[in-house]
Amino acid sequence: MKRGEFELIEIIRKKFSNPTHNVLGIGDDAAVIDKNQLITSDALVDGVHFLSNKIDFADLGYKSIAVNISDIVAMGGFPIYALITMGIPADFSDDKIDAFIRGVEAVRDIYGFDLIGGDTVKSPTFFVSITMIGKTFAHPLTRGGAKPKDYIYTTGRIGDSAIGLHLELGDLKYPVDDKEYFITRHYTPEPRLKLIEYMMKHYRINSCIDISDGFLGDLRHIADESQLGFFIEVNELPISKHKIGASFSTYPDYFYHLALTSGEDYELIFTTPDDIDTMKVYGDTGEFIIPVGFMEESGFDVRMKDKKLDLNNLQSGFNHFAKLEA
Ligand code: ADP
Ligand code: MG
Repeated sequence: MKRGEFELIEIIRKKFSNPTHNVLGIGDDAAVIDKNQLITSDALVDGVHFLSNKIDFADLGYKSIAVNISDIVAMGGFPIYALITMGIPADFSDDKIDAFIRGVEAVRDIYGFDLIGGDTVKSPTFFVSITMIGKTFAHPLTRGGAKPKDYIYTTGRIGDSAIGLHLELGDLKYPVDDKEYFITRHYTPEPRLKLIEYMMKHYRINSCIDISDGFLGDLRHIADESQLGFFIEVNELPISKHKIGASFSTYPDYFYHLALTSGEDYELIFTTPDDIDTMKVYGDTGEFIIPVGFMEESGFDVRMKDKKLDLNNLQSGFNHFAKLEA
């Protein structure tokens, strides 16, 4: 396929932009039907999203569900039902499938949803496609609701998953202290379900997205859908400095770059007009949130202290940022 993923989605979105029913369709983390029902679907393919001879299939079962829960959470909702479709090569190991099912049970026990169906087919390559159905805690949180001057907050730590992935691939440029932490973060992301419920109860959340493609690329989705720009202070990004250790102070640019452009953190970016007491949020929920910038009428201003970063030189995982700036 010569077209990029987002180019194709735009072509489909344009053709189907006038739905017969009253829905929020293509373009957000999940579709919204009947005002507060959420539906999302994500597929993982062997050789593209994971390597079946390297990954623990219990982790794969966990992660394939968790990434879908993350999309439901990003819409301000909680998961209720899941359907799993598996494509399995004829000679595939039963032990791996059993481990996969254990992983699905593990994430079910944490987040509480019912597995209600799916499909099982023969396939030349192992793949799994999950559909998750959920419901909003209140109104749906969209990518398009950000307002000028909204604060931009992010949850947890970002860049961890990329460090874990590069450790697994053996191509992380600089050593880190706590390898296990980063690898665990890569394989078992934690959708911020309790946190979003709390935030929606106490604050006005204007827009929200989960970080699957990378912080900048995903923030860009909020900006595009809200027809706004943003200002980001890179030094405010929550990076696991202590777990990286000495390499962070020697090569900060490398780790900031990973945090800005690498995906799969499954943390949230949300915008709000409220100046939030982050210590109170931590006290009440045990979860970190931190302000990293604010929405502007237009333009993309990404700064490290007083230095303005050239976004063309920041190769985002899915390069849609570079394309726009070019
Ligand atoms: P996320 O990273 O949050 O999972 P995606 O980038 O995968 O979001 O998808 C963005 C939007 O495009 C979503 O609304 C999704 O449902 C829609 N989408 C993706 N692929 C297709 C497709 N083949 N046909 C129709 N809609 C699609
Ligand atoms: Mg998403």
